[in-house]
Amino acid sequence: MIFNDRRSILFGTDTLTPREIRSQIPYRAASGYATLEEAYTEFTGGTVSDINGETAIKLNSVNGANATTNHTYVDALPLAQYIMLPIYISSLSNLLEFRIFFRDVFNGANYFRYNGGVPSGIKTGFNIFIVNKAEFIASGAADWANCKYLEFHCQAKAGLNCEARFGKIETYNMAPLCTISFDDGEITHFTNAWSYMKTKTPSIVGCDAIITDTIGDATHFSEANVRELIAAGWDIQNHTKNHIDLSTLTEAEADYQTSKAMEYLIGIGAGKGAFQISIPFSGAGAIVEKVSRKYATIKKVWNIPGYYNKQPVLDTYHLETFSVEYNVTLATVKGWIDEAIANQYYLVLLFHMINDTGLQYTWPIADFQAVIDYLDTNKALIKTVTMTQALYRM
Ligand SMILES: [Zn+2]
Repeated sequence: MIFNDRRSILFGTDTLTPREIRSQIPYRAASGYATLEEAYTEFTGGTVSDINGETAIKLNSVNGANATTNHTYVDALPLAQYIMLPIYISSLSNLLEFRIFFRDVFNGANYFRYNGGVPSGIKTGFNIFIVNKAEFIASGAADWANCKYLEFHCQAKAGLNCEARFGKIETYNMAPLCTISFDDGEITHFTNAWSYMKTKTPSIVGCDAIITDTIGDATHFSEANVRELIAAGWDIQNHTKNHIDLSTLTEAEADYQTSKAMEYLIGIGAGKGAFQISIPFSGAGAIVEKVSRKYATIKKVWNIPGYYNKQPVLDTYHLETFSVEYNVTLATVKGWIDEAIANQYYLVLLFHMINDTGLQYTWPIADFQAVIDYLDTNKALIKTVTMTQALYRM
């Protein structure tokens, strides 16, 4: 299984067929995938090829020319919120962009267009690529229910060559998800957040990446707090032993910081949370990457809000979080939740302290509680889950 060997689906996939990769993707059975499968010999432009043995259509852009392939289907395409397909790129550095169009008729003015220059996660070679409807740009009177026409483009940079192969498309829906996530195991997560989250039926549980050497000091969780949260179903995660910026350490020191925290988490019964990491200060680099892949299956990425997680999450070492700080309003957070519901995203909210001091890494108690109320009120539309529940399909 993908998660047990501590690798993301995108890591080390080059020898697997697209079918083998897709068979490992969580939620498949439950989410009602439909395929737009139709013999690629019926496409005009391009040539029939394969990606690791599975049929694909190949486009060759020579000297930066736009290469196109297209096909009209008999019936309207059953397009759901997500579209997934294998894509092979011969040279990412040569690629200007690939494009996907859905139109009503050949050359019609009513269409949806996706321009994928160098989307995050795409690499030279084989990729499983996921695109959400919300990422398409609509032109004219574009209507998803009327799309009968599919068009792929591949265009290399001026004077360069690039080949792209597009495999069979699958389309599917996913349940919107949200995670309430914290960093640092700070005491107000227990006193001001959990105390309110547990008043809901069922209790809303979250995730907290803790600094294991701070357990029991005046401003962080006690060991009893940690045990209560684990028993309630929280993911208690690795935020290292001392909260040192791992990117400033030697590999041995970074390994020590991470492995010692993991030992504590396993010892206290944190379960899968022990294999989930949040890197202090978002330290980056080869050592951080090596150590986190060694000790974790999931890595939270602290980010400027705006990058929703598409589903299923293929790269669990790049789990996007929306940081909720003093200058973020309650209306903004509700808007993020609404957006996740509308587009079937997985939204991870990341909080630091829950108090009324107004400092940068704090958020007011009343606003936090209002978010919990909002998630509880809308629980039929969006499930609030832990990362374990979201990513291990539990
Ligand atoms: Zn921290």
